[in-house]
Amino acid sequence: MRIEHIEELASIIGDGSRVITAPAVLERLSHDFYWYSPVLRPKLANKHGDVAIQPASVDEVLAVLRYAGRNEVPVTVRGAGTGNYGQCVPLEGGIVLDLSLIDRLEEITPDGIAVCQPGLRLGALETEARKHGWELRMYPSTLVKASVGGFLAGGSGGIGSVAHGGLRDFDTVRAFEVVTMEDQPRVVLHEGAAVHEILHAWGTNGILSRIWFALAPAVEWMQFTAVFNTYDQAFTFTESIAADPAWTKRLATVFEWPIPSFFTPIKGLVREGKTMALLMIKTSQCEALSSAAQSAGGEVTFTGVFEGPRTQPLLSDYTWNHTTLWAMKADSSYTYLQCGFSPRECREQFHMLRARYGDEILFHIEFMKNSDGAVIPGAIPVVRFTTEERLNEMIAYCRSIGVFVANPHVNYLEDGGRFRADNIQLLAKQKYDPRGLLNPGKMISFRKAVAQ
Ligand SMILES: Cc1cc2nc3c(=O)[nH]c(=O)nc-3n(C[C@H](O)[C@H](O)[C@H](O)COP(=O)(O)OP(=O)(O)OC[C@H]3O[C@@H](n4cnc5c(N)ncnc54)[C@H](O)[C@@H]3O)c2cc1C
Repeated sequence: MRIEHIEELASIIGDGSRVITAPAVLERLSHDFYWYSPVLRPKLANKHGDVAIQPASVDEVLAVLRYAGRNEVPVTVRGAGTGNYGQCVPLEGGIVLDLSLIDRLEEITPDGIAVCQPGLRLGALETEARKHGWELRMYPSTLVKASVGGFLAGGSGGIGSVAHGGLRDFDTVRAFEVVTMEDQPRVVLHEGAAVHEILHAWGTNGILSRIWFALAPAVEWMQFTAVFNTYDQAFTFTESIAADPAWTKRLATVFEWPIPSFFTPIKGLVREGKTMALLMIKTSQCEALSSAAQSAGGEVTFTGVFEGPRTQPLLSDYTWNHTTLWAMKADSSYTYLQCGFSPRECREQFHMLRARYGDEILFHIEFMKNSDGAVIPGAIPVVRFTTEERLNEMIAYCRSIGVFVANPHVNYLEDGGRFRADNIQLLAKQKYDPRGLLNPGKMISFRKAVAQ
């Protein structure tokens, strides 16, 4: 990118402190948690933008896109940069558009819709929502840092998904406004089913600039752990809670040994050699849950009130994709997969994987509701990495026995787990970004229109 472009952009923004070229900061703003994947690590380490811009308003976003479009400069949007697959890593340089300053919560409507700007942090939204009697339907374990825009564009679900499904389900995302990269960039409203054209498209076909996000009535939650002698016992107990609608829960997780041994800050909750179940349960049901765990052969090792994102210990910090982080801290040769087991055949599938891979794969289950309303054992197993070939063989084997795998070791939408086969994201890209300037290289089925 030419130096004149950077000077020109600085004069558009009119505040040099928000037009960043300092190499160390630019480097940081160009990366996310792509290094989780030993496959992506060498491919993305050297990729970075030429300038990072921190707009403070949607008008400034429009002005930057107008300039970038006219000059064919790529733009890669960034929320908080907690994505796992290098989603916000610019592959072709250009502008990193950091939306962290556009972070206002405009209102929470009486019927529980948060109207907010994309840079708003999910933790701040959860805290504010609870003051109004509401809470997030679901959030990633990066709650405190991650932004609402980044979650919608790059995430899929998390804590709360056992009750409310993933981000794509049950009208959780009611509407948003999108800034386009057309000849004349504009702000377009997408409502209802039209949100799926842009949702989880990694900022490749529009920039979310205002969001209507449905909340749930707030519940008083307890955090809960119990340990069991065997994985089967812990899985069966947790499954019985997750699948039964009589239990009001926000989280239902199982970690087979030795995964709990990686959780050093909460080692008092762990027992050597035992599988751990970790749940968030409505406070009024906590006693009954303790009795149920004991009847199932478990030992309850912790119960404590959830007081919002600042709770200590915040047990969600050990769940979803935080589990992988703890494993990698303990042993850097660990990595992960993202799987969905069959509710009916999962025990056989566990058995087959264990027989073939031994402790090369460690089971970490996150129960979640699917779009049909059925609760299924989702999983983010911890996997010992040796070679890319071995990892791909494991993925192929999982798929051959009916285990769904969303491959987290690729850096483009089409091979990631949440790819939509119905083409609507591609059609939206052709319409809103015909020159292919938004996060280029991440939607590989897109081809630039050839001028006639
Ligand atoms: C330890 C750890 C645990 C995690 N746990 C979970 C989990 O439980 N569930 C889950 O779903 N994910 C999880 N993630 C992934 C990630 O944290 C979430 O998806 C998070 O919501 C991303 O938000 P962000 O603001 O950091 O987005 P970023 O990483 O900044 O961006 C994500 C993608 O969205 C695009 N984007 C950002 N803002 C916008 C916008 N306004 N408009 C259009 N595109 C935009 C970016 O270009 C990028 O492609 C985890 C990651 C880590 C490192």
